[in-house]
Order: sequence, then structure tokens, then C-alpha cells
Amino acid sequence: MNYKNPDKHGYYGEFGGAFVPEMLYPNVEELQTTYLEIIESESFQREYQDLLKNYVGRATPLYLAKNLSQKYNTRIYLKREDLNHTGAHKINNAIGQVLLAKRLGKNRIIAETGAGQHGVATATACALLGLECIVYMGEIDIQRQAPNVARMKMLGAEVIPATSGSKTLKDAVNEALRDWINNPSTTHYVIGSVVGPHPFPDLVARFQSIISKEIKEQLLEQSGHENPDYVIACVGGGSNAAGAFYHFVNEENVKLIAAEAGGFGVDSGKSAATTFLGTIGVLHGSKSLVMQTADGQVIEPHSISAGLDYPGIGPFHSNLFKENRAEFFSINDDEALQSAFQLTRIEGIIPALESAHALAVLDKKRFEKDDIVVVCLSGRGDKDMETYLKHL
Ligand SMILES: *Cc1c(COP(=O)(O)O)cnc(C)c1O
Repeated sequence: MNYKNPDKHGYYGEFGGAFVPEMLYPNVEELQTTYLEIIESESFQREYQDLLKNYVGRATPLYLAKNLSQKYNTRIYLKREDLNHTGAHKINNAIGQVLLAKRLGKNRIIAETGAGQHGVATATACALLGLECIVYMGEIDIQRQAPNVARMKMLGAEVIPATSGSKTLKDAVNEALRDWINNPSTTHYVIGSVVGPHPFPDLVARFQSIISKEIKEQLLEQSGHENPDYVIACVGGGSNAAGAFYHFVNEENVKLIAAEAGGFGVDSGKSAATTFLGTIGVLHGSKSLVMQTADGQVIEPHSISAGLDYPGIGPFHSNLFKENRAEFFSINDDEALQSAFQLTRIEGIIPALESAHALAVLDKKRFEKDDIVVVCLSGRGDKDMETYLKHL
């Protein structure tokens, strides 16, 4: 089976597609018919790769974490996405999509954001490339994530509160989609994860695939092996995991592990573990696993990490789950906190709370002494200091 890319209708197995209101169809169709030709062109790649290298700071290191390896009696490498400009993997996608928008002749960018990380990455790319930037954000999230709101404003973005529904991420997505319908010719919608109607999941996965491309090259250089035994990544919508899995997903000897946010526990009613709790449904334009009631109302998720606090997972991962190509773990808030404190104390790296969910898998799974285990450290923990201090 080819797990890597969707078919021409945007399906990974039974998941994906483009379920959008008719008024949005022209925008989505324009993207579907143009995205591959543009992003695979030599001139696009030249500009994109130059920015990744000289602006974002890629390649990010692949670091053999000796102390962590000793603790778990195996070989653990950390892929340091936390060292990217703006502090996480999201900038890889934001810059790619803003460059794409320019080539489509769009000079106005909209985005949704929950915790604000994707909003900051998009506002950064827009400041760099000279495009207008509007970020939709739930009113409650605006209050919870004040530092990122300040960053976006300083970067020149306009932050518009979403005041409907639960006033959080899914409401911000709805507002952004409404904006896109009203401004089809001038505007590109930069979606922040491997979610949304086709071609967004594939588009975002391709921009994030730089992560596994570098892992392959760096691992070969450092260990003599191109492929690790395991790749572990956290999954919110699934973009850092899709990027970390991408060049391994069709290689059967590489085991893939995804860490979802268990919140207070899968059975607690306060969780975001979609593969454990979700059923097949349509969320934000694609068929995927969704946390929903029997009559299709989206259930409010909970996670201590804002970046994993999402009631679905994208179609790429829904398919890996269904086909048993990846193993899924649910990591609770307290387990993620413990792993974050441990990494900080023994390696001197403060991880994002999201990334700490991936690290917590090390306590759940047994590895052989000479296994090569790569953990995607999706972001840094500066943004989470307030939460960490409460639990010190
Ligand atoms: C947003 C975010 C995530 C979750 O998003 P994915 O699309 O699942 O990668 C994970 N880690 C960090 C640091 C984030 O900012």
C-alpha cells in the first residue's frame, strides 16, 4: 500500500476528500489543479529551500541524546525542530504556503490558530514576504494565549476573535472558511496542519516532509543506517508526525509511533485521544476520525497542550491507524509533564508540552539496546513556562 500521498481525489484509503460548501469549491479546485506543478517547480524549490536554510535555520540537528539513551538502554536521537525560527516545525509549512499564495497572485493571507503557534508562524512568513495577514482566533484562546497574540500584532497581523460556539479553535476555522468564501480571488487560506479539504493534507505533508528527508541523511552520516527502527512523534492534527514519517511510511521495517493527547485519561471525558475516542466523520472539509456524539456534534477536546487540543486527526493518520501502519499511544497530561521535566533535567532541553507527549512513549514501550529510536521534538517549551512553573 502507498501510505504517502492521496489519490487524485485526495483520499488516503477511505479518508480524505474535499467536503466543502459549493461557494468554496472554486478556491479549492484552483489549489487542487495547481499546487503540485507550482511547488515542484525548480524556481519555487530554489526560493523555498533558500529560506529554509538561511531564514529558518535548517537543517535542524539530529542529536544523539546520550543521557536519555542511557536511561532507556537504547539509542535515542532527537530531531530538533525546536531550533527552527519561531520555535517549532510550523514555520516549514507557513513559509511554503505563503510562497505558494504569492505565485497564485494572492496578496491577502488568512489563517486560523488555537494556541497561536500557527498564527505566529504565518504572521512571520507574511512579514517576511510582504503580504497582508489576518488570523482568526477563538475569543477564549485570545485570552489564554496573550503572548502569542502580542507577537502576531507586532508582526503586523490583524487578530480577529471568533465569538461563536465554544470560542476556540474549531470556531476560528469556521470563521476563516467564511472569510475565504467572501474573498476568493484575493485570498489564500494557510491551514496549519495536515487537515482540511484536499489538497491541504498533502500540501502540508509535503512541506513538512523536509523533517524525514533530513533524518535519513543525518542518520546515515551519524550511524551508518539510513533508516531508524522507530520514529515517534506527537499528533494534534498531525503535521509534525506526517513530516517525520513521510520518507519512512512506505518502508515496512521502520516502525511508526504516534502520541495523542490523553488529557486526564481516555475515559475521563476530558481527552483529545481521537483514535481511541473518535469515529468516522467529516471535520473541516475532510473525512477522518473525529470525536463526536452519536448525532455528529463535535465533542470538545481537552489537553494540557494547546497544540494537541483538537477533536480530530487528519486523513493521513486516520489511514495509518486503520491499516495498523502506525501504533497510537494516548499520553495523559501528567505523563507529558513528567517527560518534559525529565528531558530538561538530563539533557538540558526544555521541550514544548506537545513534544513531551512523544517523549512519554519512551516509558510505554520497550526498545532493544541497539535499536535506533528517533523522537521528533516538534517545538520548544518557552511558550509553556507558565504551565511548567505551576507543576514544578
Ligand atoms: C501545533 C503544534 C503541534 C501539533 O500540531 P501537528 O500538526 O500535529 O504537528 C505539535 N507540536 C508543537 C510544538 C506545535 O506547536
